[in-house]
Amino acid sequence: MDGFINSEEAYERACAVLVGGVDSPVRAWKSVGGTPVFIMSAGGAYMLDTEGRAYRDYVGSWGPMILGHADPDVTKAIYEAASRSSSYGAPCVAEIELAELIRGKFPSVEKIRFVNSGTEAAMTALRLARAFTGRDKIIKFAGCYHGHSDSLLAEAGSGALTLGVPTSPGITAANASDTVVLPYNSVETATRVFEECGGDIAAVIVEPWAANMGLVPPIPGFLDALARLCKDAGAVLIFDEIITGFRIPEFGVQNKEKLRPDLTCLGKIIGGGFPVGAVGGRADIMNKLQPLGPVYQAGTLAGNPVAMAAGIATLSKLTQTAYQKTEYSASRFATGLKQAASSAGIDISVSRLGSIVGFFFAPKLPLNLDAVKMSNVGLYAKFFHGMIARGDYFAPSPYESIFISLAHTAEIIDATIGNAREVFAGMASEA
Ligand SMILES: *Cc1c(COP(=O)(O)O)cnc(C)c1O
Repeated sequence: MDGFINSEEAYERACAVLVGGVDSPVRAWKSVGGTPVFIMSAGGAYMLDTEGRAYRDYVGSWGPMILGHADPDVTKAIYEAASRSSSYGAPCVAEIELAELIRGKFPSVEKIRFVNSGTEAAMTALRLARAFTGRDKIIKFAGCYHGHSDSLLAEAGSGALTLGVPTSPGITAANASDTVVLPYNSVETATRVFEECGGDIAAVIVEPWAANMGLVPPIPGFLDALARLCKDAGAVLIFDEIITGFRIPEFGVQNKEKLRPDLTCLGKIIGGGFPVGAVGGRADIMNKLQPLGPVYQAGTLAGNPVAMAAGIATLSKLTQTAYQKTEYSASRFATGLKQAASSAGIDISVSRLGSIVGFFFAPKLPLNLDAVKMSNVGLYAKFFHGMIARGDYFAPSPYESIFISLAHTAEIIDATIGNAREVFAGMASEA
């Protein structure tokens, strides 16, 4: 077993062979500074680094680990599936079972295709929407993340109605210009764009609660307006529930809000910690995919039997009682954090959806990316380092959400809140 190598040493070795030492940029701690810790193992609500330090984990692999790490039933299912081979490249029953579990909880989902990541799910949803409508343009919202496929790495150009510009080198202007980027929660701009060019719009893709700029709720009426605009213009409404799916007792925000998007993207929890994504929705749209329709999409490892088994085992444990427990813990955490900050005289705003929590160093909850950017992100780095030094692992970026798992007991939460109280007090005395 590898382990007991110090983080500095591990990071140096990693940087020599992996780009920036990591396989996903946020893990390099660039926005908070310092050397990332390397994880050796994890169980329940804890992660253990290579120096043997334990952390209460509030990242949860960015969402999937809702049962906590190394849940015994999930682990058993993984072992059993792996012992029957880690991949077939041919149909297996586990794919049907996981698809049926998902469809049973999402009335909008008639047909499903499994893919290997959330990125692929969103990319496939857009390709389907474009093929179905015969149109090119898509609308996304600033601050919503849908993975890193080319047409989704666009940001707003100057002026609300101008076309998107690339967020990253390597994305062509043509690709970005088919993407219209609008402010989250603005019914007015969305309405204006549909008035202007509704007939050109293939799809609107949205996180129904935005969880990749901190956790930002939709204002009442926002999602309904998008649904209405899409319906009237014949555009496809895509809910990206990769984070929100299976995080709440209603299973998806769409069910909570009684909305039926045409397509839904899922990921994270449905793979139980394995690389799985899914796109699902209306049969008449989904059936455009090969082998039934003309739209190409494929995956050597898609529907992988071990990944499907991990997903099935995870979803099977997500009972209403499980949701009640996680929700109780998350609400204890959210209330405690707000109190800890205010007792130090620091104003934070807190948002919560089921077991997802967000907080901002801003007195008023931001409702779009511009407002999020005005919250004090510099303070977050101080908070992060204060917490990690006390054994609490939060996301190494101010724009991420906090994930509470079934393994986070009241004692664990209270220990973290106690530490947060100290950290906030320290920050207040420095200010
Ligand atoms: C994580 C995430 C994705 C991307 O999923 P990957 O598996 O990282 O490709 C897409 N959309 C949302 C809302 C996400 O949170």
